[in-house]
Formats: sequence, C-alpha cells, structure tokens
Amino acid sequence: MTSTNSPVFDNSYVKQGEQFYTAQAPSSVPAPNVIRINVHLASELGIDPQWLASPEGIASMAGNHIPAGAEPIATVYAGHQFGGWNPQLGDGRAVLLGELLADSGIRYDWQLKGSGRTPYSRGGDGKSPLGPVLREYILCEAMAALNVPTTRALGAVTSGELVFRDQALPGAVFSRVAQSHIRVGTMQYFAARQDTAALQSLSDYLINRHFPEAAQASNPILAMLNKIIQRQATLIAQWQSIGFIHGVMNTDNMLLCGETVDYGPCAFMDNYDPATVFSSIDQKGRYAYGNQPGIAHWNLAQLAQALIPILDNSLDNNESTQEERAIAIAQEALNTFPDLFLSAYQNIIKDKLGIATFTEQDDDLYQNLLKLMEQEKADFTLCFRRLAELADEAACVNSSIRELFDFNDTFTTWLHEWRQRLNSDSQSPAQRQAKMFKANPVFIPRNHLVQEAIAAAESNGDFSYFNQLVDVLENPHTFDPENQRYAMPAKPNERVLNTFCGT
Ligand code: AMP
Ligand code: MG
Ligand code: MG
Repeated sequence: MTSTNSPVFDNSYVKQGEQFYTAQAPSSVPAPNVIRINVHLASELGIDPQWLASPEGIASMAGNHIPAGAEPIATVYAGHQFGGWNPQLGDGRAVLLGELLADSGIRYDWQLKGSGRTPYSRGGDGKSPLGPVLREYILCEAMAALNVPTTRALGAVTSGELVFRDQALPGAVFSRVAQSHIRVGTMQYFAARQDTAALQSLSDYLINRHFPEAAQASNPILAMLNKIIQRQATLIAQWQSIGFIHGVMNTDNMLLCGETVDYGPCAFMDNYDPATVFSSIDQKGRYAYGNQPGIAHWNLAQLAQALIPILDNSLDNNESTQEERAIAIAQEALNTFPDLFLSAYQNIIKDKLGIATFTEQDDDLYQNLLKLMEQEKADFTLCFRRLAELADEAACVNSSIRELFDFNDTFTTWLHEWRQRLNSDSQSPAQRQAKMFKANPVFIPRNHLVQEAIAAAESNGDFSYFNQLVDVLENPHTFDPENQRYAMPAKPNERVLNTFCGT
C-alpha cells in the first residue's frame, strides 16, 4: 500500500476538438534519474511531493509512465520565427501530459519537454540535451523569484541516453508548468487556415480559462485582446527592468496567458548596453535588449491580425464593412501598447530609483543614468543595487556590495542630482530603501554561473553547482555575503558571449 496521492487531472484542452492537437504519448527513456524536484511548487499546485518523488512520479516526469487521468497530446500552432512566417509548427519535442487544478483554483498545464518525437517534430528527434534543461530550470525559477510571470519548473530528470547534436550529450526531460501553452502562434495557425469557427472557439476557451471578466464585456474578443496587450506590456516592462533578454521572441514563443516561455537562448545583460544580444541564432540583433518592447508590439499586431475575422461583433453583417470595423478596432487596441508599456515600466523605474511618484523630469534622470552606465560599461544589476544601498547607507554597513561595484567620478554629478531629487520625495530613507531592494535584485542568473552549472553537470555528473545556484536564486533581493560569489559579474576570462540555442 502506498501513502502517496497521485494528482487528479482535469484535461480541458483535449475537449476542444482534434483540430487543436494530436494525441501523443511521450517516449520512454532507458534510465531516468531525478535531477531536482520542485517540492514547493508541487505543493502549491496540489501535487503530492511524495508522489512526485516516488518511482511512479519519477517515471511520469521521464515519460515512462502515464499517470491515471492524463491524456497526453502534442498541440498544433504556427508562428513568425525571426519575422518569417511558418504555417506549421507545433509541439515537436514536448507533450502536454495534462491539466491540473491548483488549490488557488488556477488551472495548470503539465508539459514534458524533451520527451521524444511527435507529428510536429519534422526532422528533429524530439529530445533535449541536459544543458538546455538545466538552463530553463535555473532561469524560469529565478524569474519566478523575481516576481516575473513565467512558466515554472516542476522537476527535471536525466534520461540515461545520449542526445546527438554536433556532439553526443547526456539527455534530460523537463517538467514544465504553465497557466496554459496557448500562443500567439496558436491563433495564427487557425487564422491562416481561415478557420473562423476554430478562432472563435479557441477565443471562448481562452476567455473562460484566463480572462473570465472579458465574457461580460460588450465585445468579449476585444476585451480579451486588450487584456493580452496589457499583460504583455507589464511583462516586457518587468523584463527590461531586470535586464532579461529573451532571445527568441517568435510569435510561437509568446503565451497568451502572459507568462514568459521558452528559455532556449535567453540571458541576463551584464553591463548596460541596449544592443546586447547573446543568442547565437540572432545574428541581426532582432531580439536585442532594446528591441524587446517593439518586438512585443509587433507580435501583438500579428495576434490582432489573426483575430480580425471575429473582432467585430456589431449587428451589421456586411462582410466588407465588418472587416473595416475589425481593422479599426484592432488598430485602436494595438495603439494602446506603447503607453501601457511606458506606464508599467515607469512604475518599476520609480522603485528602482527610489522615487514615490514618477514625473517627466525623472525620465531625464533615468535616461542620463542609463547613458552613463552605457558609457562606463557599468554592470546593470550591481549599479542599481549599489544605488539602493546609497539610499540608506547607515543600514548597509555590513552588507555592502561596494567591493563589487561602486560609482566612479563620472557619476558624481548624476548622484548629486539624484540626491537632490530625493529631497522632494515623500518616503523615509528606510521606506525608500526597502522598495529599492525589491526592485533591484542582487542575485540574477549570471551567464557564467549558468554555464558553470551546466558544464559541471554535463562533464562530471556533478549537480552541486546547479543546485546551489537554484537555491541562491530563490532569494534574489536579499544580499547574503556568504553568497557574494553569485553576485559578482564575470571576470574577463569567464565572460559568456553566446548562449546556446536550446535545441
Ligand atoms: P523553439 O525555437 O524552441 O521555439 O522551437 C521551434 C519549433 O521547433 C517548435 O515547434 C519545436 O517543437 C520544434 N523543435 C525544436 N527542437 C526540436 C527537436 N529537437 N525535435 C523536434 N522538434 C523540435
Ligand atoms: Mg518555442
Ligand atoms: Mg526553444
């Protein structure tokens, strides 16, 4: 007899109809071994951590066992990849095991990534090497701790088999959790096929699952589009505020639920430079740090375009005037993005600078700081963290990161202006600093640390670097001098210039 409880699945996407997916069991792997189980997340989702760590749970994470109630599928979508249209994509190396209801009432997808071929694999093997699995685990959990909406890591296992890329690499399977995996590219797929019925039913499904308030609006599809635009504006503002570079913002990698997804070639910026690109597959810098808000806007335009056939719900059914109205509605919705982004961004920037209310002059103050940072090649994260320390120096005597970063003379005038600005700010130094610490993390998943963790695991099967890094990143806002090494920028010989594309 076992004392553990297997999770209860409630699969709503499979009920939408077979045009949305293909039933697909994950492949078995020869010798699964647990890398890490996210006990805390499992509990939050209502998954018994003991079950997940049991032979049955581990076999489920490996794709070797289909838990009772799961109905695994590979979903279909299309997308713009680096601006080029691809009418047929889909889960090529992932299966959606099923959906679970968390105690909070929120519905979650449990997806296995790297679980073998599907009808959408094209030439690929459907597998994942260990490196990208570890990168995704580290990065997505770091993002969650930084309070950025993101897909999560429920756990990861090695597969006991080799995956062949330009060399033989150990294989792994990643258990990803998302509020849903429906993408801009999912809508595009049905729009491109002129399947208006599917567009409508997918939208109804999305509204029901993610935007229930939109159902009450006079135009529910528009209300949904506006919500999606708002969530993306907030999400990208958060990315920008911590120097996160996604690296592959294709429309199939933008989730409509508003969570960050696809951690293939992503990285955090070291020294501030808006042109920063790490992904080796982004040779023209389309997805550079400074381009992310514009690209998000472009992706949302593709979504709005896909929704045109169902966007006008007025009673006049004349097809051509209906389309004209839909285009006008879409355009108006899209035009809100720049301001929504800016206000979300400024809302964070004010906390990064320690200001209670952001004014127009504060934008100059901020832009001038960025210019100095760019000129001085200052570390983006540590520069803001040091600023937070300066907001209440007396409180920081024992936890100074001054040895890692300090403002040089070039910043003197700027710092003087900043201090003057604080004179007319209503917050006490302690209040200000508390907010600044929350907006200015000290621990981010630095590229050289991610690389170090992957290298140790790949070459020696040593997961201690990975586990320690994940542990440290659980508390990104609190400096612990014992973990100083994790706050340090890469030394010149440690610098990672390219991130590996996660295939
Ligand atoms: P991504 O660049 O991760 O967004 O992936 C783009 C598309 O390629 C998705 O449809 C993936 O499922 C598919 N894909 C990527 N790598 C593989 C692979 N090794 N085997 C099969 N399909 C893959
Ligand atoms: Mg993807
Ligand atoms: Mg990817």
